[in-house]
Amino acid sequence: MRAINFNAGPAGLPLPALERARDELVEFGSSGMSIMEHSHRGKEYEGVHGEAVALLTELLGIPATHQVLFLQGGASLQFAMVPMNFLPKDGSADYTLNGTWSEKAFEEAKIVGSPRVAATTQDPDKRYTRTPKQSELQLDPKAAYVHITSNETIYGSQWHQFPDVGQVPLFADMSSDFLWRPFDVSRFALIYAGAQKNVGPSGVVVVIARKDLIAQGRKDGVPKILRYSTHAENNSLYNTPPTFGIYLMRNVLAWVKEIGGLKEIEARNRKKADLLYGALDRMNSYYRAPVEKESRSVMNVVFRLPSEALEDRFVQEAKKQRMVGLKGHRSAGGIRVSAYNAVSVEDIQALVGFMESFAKANG
Ligand code: PMP
Repeated sequence: MRAINFNAGPAGLPLPALERARDELVEFGSSGMSIMEHSHRGKEYEGVHGEAVALLTELLGIPATHQVLFLQGGASLQFAMVPMNFLPKDGSADYTLNGTWSEKAFEEAKIVGSPRVAATTQDPDKRYTRTPKQSELQLDPKAAYVHITSNETIYGSQWHQFPDVGQVPLFADMSSDFLWRPFDVSRFALIYAGAQKNVGPSGVVVVIARKDLIAQGRKDGVPKILRYSTHAENNSLYNTPPTFGIYLMRNVLAWVKEIGGLKEIEARNRKKADLLYGALDRMNSYYRAPVEKESRSVMNVVFRLPSEALEDRFVQEAKKQRMVGLKGHRSAGGIRVSAYNAVSVEDIQALVGFMESFAKANG
């Protein structure tokens, strides 16, 4: 029996995508072997690769100005690749800090050049409970790019309106913010997202970047494998890609399309978030949601109980009801509900029911 999986990533995958993989695992079509065993240069795999790019392009309405890449090394490699390609040695880039992941991106950029902090929402306890406001951004018009972490997976805050950064290219780490709703891709010069939250298994990173920007990436001193242009020129087949991960991503994307696309996915996700935050607000004498209302993440909902001992009990008792993955990130503590696309409205209803009975029994 499958668990109700609230893991933050790797996260639950939609059952139909897994069942399709099960059915196709030993023999893909009538090709005599699994997709994993095919050459990445053969027509079977190329068909899957092309379909994944086409589905993503269709679902997000990616304009012809942008190219989709499937890379490896996680979003963490993107923290390094972004400045290596686009932060000039004598130039600067603006980073907005709203949590651990943006700090990590910034630290990597510091190794390459001299990035600036354009805004930070770190509080005196070194925690983050919101995203920056537009009015707080101190932008450098000469910056090579502005980098945001559009959803902070650990602290549970989200940019609900993407910032206006003028003519400077906007870059976003959308790892935990990707493919849960439609958005205007053309506002971004570069987006990256580890697949393991909403799109597929770990091992694949989706990059969507403006073609003219990719072409301008630095070549001098940057190994070929770390240049976006290398992967763009080779349709992400410069070296052997994670073929099975991309295949599974294809299955997830096909499922998103099948159930009605991103509008439908967004409606479900907003309903889930409304149910959860509604419950937290209703029971606010027991549960405490630290993130400011305007910054509350639809994807990662974090909250505290009256004590750490009760939080431990909450996690243990939820497990008995097949609900897993509720423990907050080790650096932040508390409870975290990651409610990505594969988590259903019914799963959240079950969790809210559990939260109500837990508060009554342990109040
Ligand atoms: N950025 C964000 C927003 C994340 O949530 C994560 C992983 N949870 C990362 C970056 C790092 O991703 P990876 O482990 O794939 O390198």
